[in-house]
Amino acid sequence: MTYRVLARKWRPKTLTDLVGQPALVQTIQASIERQQLHHAYLFTGTRGVGKTSIARILAKCLNCEEGITATPCLKCDACVSIAEGRFADLIEVDAASRTRVEETRDLLDNVPYAPTQGRYKVYLIDEVHMLSAHSFNALLKTLEEPPEHVKFFLATTDPQRLPVTILSRCLQFHLKAVSPDSLSAHLEHICDSEEVIASKDGLKLISRAAAGSVRDGLSLLEQAIAYGQGKVEASEVRQMLGSASEMSIYELLDKVLTADAGAALSIVDQMAQDGTIFESAIEQCITTLHQICLYQQVPERVQQTAHPETLSSLAEKVAPERAQLVYQLCLYAKRDFGLAPDAKTAFEMFVLRLCSFHRVETHQPKSEKAQAVSSAESTLPIRRVKTAPPAMQKAVASASPETVDWISVISSLNVTGLNKIVLSQAKVKSWAAPQLILEVSQEHEGCVSDERSLAIAKLLTDQTGIPVKLTFSVNQSVVKAATNVPDNLTEPDEEQNNKHLEQDSDLQSLVDAFDATIEKVTVLKNEKQGENS
Ligand SMILES: [Zn+2]
Repeated sequence: MTYRVLARKWRPKTLTDLVGQPALVQTIQASIERQQLHHAYLFTGTRGVGKTSIARILAKCLNCEEGITATPCLKCDACVSIAEGRFADLIEVDAASRTRVEETRDLLDNVPYAPTQGRYKVYLIDEVHMLSAHSFNALLKTLEEPPEHVKFFLATTDPQRLPVTILSRCLQFHLKAVSPDSLSAHLEHICDSEEVIASKDGLKLISRAAAGSVRDGLSLLEQAIAYGQGKVEASEVRQMLGSASEMSIYELLDKVLTADAGAALSIVDQMAQDGTIFESAIEQCITTLHQICLYQQVPERVQQTAHPETLSSLAEKVAPERAQLVYQLCLYAKRDFGLAPDAKTAFEMFVLRLCSFHRVETHQPKSEKAQAVSSAESTLPIRRVKTAPPAMQKAVASASPETVDWISVISSLNVTGLNKIVLSQAKVKSWAAPQLILEVSQEHEGCVSDERSLAIAKLLTDQTGIPVKLTFSVNQSVVKAATNVPDNLTEPDEEQNNKHLEQDSDLQSLVDAFDATIEKVTVLKNEKQGENS
């Protein structure tokens, strides 16, 4: 028996063979069973997901000698000759190589004639977006009044480039990029049938590298089998793909996040020796950071990894906002990769740039956050540098909230920005030192968080010397307590803003890293607040 490449051997033969498109298969099966077939179908989707395969399967469904069926027999003359590419009534055209209008006219001239071999004459036009404008016009005329015996199957990776007149005459189906999990399962099934020993990790690497394309996945599997001399092992697949080991990416990120540039560059040297393709190493960093961010915010969504404890310790070491920043820098590095003189230089500069954001932070795990809130009072560094302003002393002394002169309290404080806005929109519910409960309306609910409560409590404590433990509660009936807050309270002036920004260490590290200057500072004003005040 002659050897056939896997991608051809495992090309889907029936609708149920299609990988990763269950919804589409179900819809088409149902319409065939009800005999409700449109005269023109458009299949869209990235390359290698099965657009032309599904069109060929449909040609069998329509022409099988056992009748129109969603499950063609695959044995009759029509089914066999379609599979072998010699069915006279299946006319396959690659629009990329036949863009001229004369060629399209020649093709469409034959449309009126009845099929010679089967029930339907099937036109399969691949990469249909490549046709010229004149060719589209010729095709449009046929699509407007197609004869009963003709079906059109159009396939494209780029439906945006089709004229709307064509789009509106086709029934459009989008084939999704196949998920790594379903592709991996498919490859495993193939390896079992072909009696190839394959490790799950190796197949996962191939599935991820295939980026949603079944055809690419099969080609890579074929390469991997040849590379591993009949076996598929993760380490060999990694070598073949030029990807770094998961562990070396973790180690690299660990060194980068602790700003150990020397150690980080040693890892880069080792990666170069192992034949790592640095561009794909950046992608691996991006994937790993995605997992870190998931771990920090939605841990149940983290994908299975061979080193879960390394991932978790890394995720706990870096603050969520810093992980976001590093992720963004990875994206920039990927975008600008080709601009560097060579791949290793590009990667080293990327690593050094990450190291330059060297503020090491210890991220507080979620479970401890609640504790932190309850013990806010004891953990706050209380510096009794000031005695409380008279308004404040009076406020704390007065037992009932009605008598608290909240406006005077705010005026006596040195607060700026959103903290000031939040305080001026709030109403005192109760104040029995140290517990201060402020009510805000529902529309300001988004402005108050545990972090903000802590920050404002610290500010009040620092500035007044009176320990404050602050809680916000949301009350629909609160409109706005401090109606007479002067404008300069809610809108800090430019000078204050600039001063505030100069003290912002995150912003300063950005300015330093990119050698940037701050040109203009604008305060974004919430429209709803504007209406109320
Ligand atoms: Zn058949």
